Amino acid sequence: MLKIKTAKFVKSAVDVNGLLRGTPSVVFAGKSNSGKSSLINMLLNNSKLARTGQTPGLTQCVNYFDVSSSINNINKNFFFVDLPGYGYAKSGKAKTKDFSALVEAYLTDNSDIKQLFLLIDIRNGASDNDRMLVNFLNYHQVPFTVIATKADKLSKVQQFAGRRVLAGDLAIGEQNILITSSQTKQGRDDVLSLIEQKIN
Ligand code: GDP
Repeated sequence: MLKIKTAKFVKSAVDVNGLLRGTPSVVFAGKSNSGKSSLINMLLNNSKLARTGQTPGLTQCVNYFDVSSSINNINKNFFFVDLPGYGYAKSGKAKTKDFSALVEAYLTDNSDIKQLFLLIDIRNGASDNDRMLVNFLNYHQVPFTVIATKADKLSKVQQFAGRRVLAGDLAIGEQNILITSSQTKQGRDDVLSLIEQKIN
């Protein structure tokens, strides 16, 4: 089983020139408020590394974290890459942000990406931006799995129903959706074992 040893913030890239290349990466994408920062912190056992509860849409940058882990006592280093949250509509202003040129540039022709996780609040279902991203990932052959977040808000029966709806919405198999909660750590082992398979 993959063990996280240490994790540290590397940099925030604010434009295409700032993007880093050459390190195997596990990428996190999703709408603002989908629970991305909380999940990253939960996986890394670090309550503060990724900043949670930020004003949605404010941070349009790509954040890199250097993760040091061991798999069967062999050290593995890779990046966690936190993509900017999309789909933010500020109340009063009808301005919705689609995923940006920066995200598109990051995701295109990038063999560093070993796995991308698309986070969706299990209670919300998929948004148009989520569907657009799934189409983009399929087209560009980026390996991805959906993570249905905040499962603690629902009963087990509702969680499975939520997963079924998401699978239908996104036209993907239910086995491609992991159910997690950053509060209870539900699903942590599932996510880590998938990362282990992809990074090894
Ligand atoms: P981000 O914008 O995608 O990075 O989302 P955050 O991680 O900042 O989370 C957005 C909000 O949802 C915050 O108020 C979190 O406390 C809350 N949240 C995130 N994950 C969970 C979860 O697993 N369970 C519950 N109950 N709340 C969560």
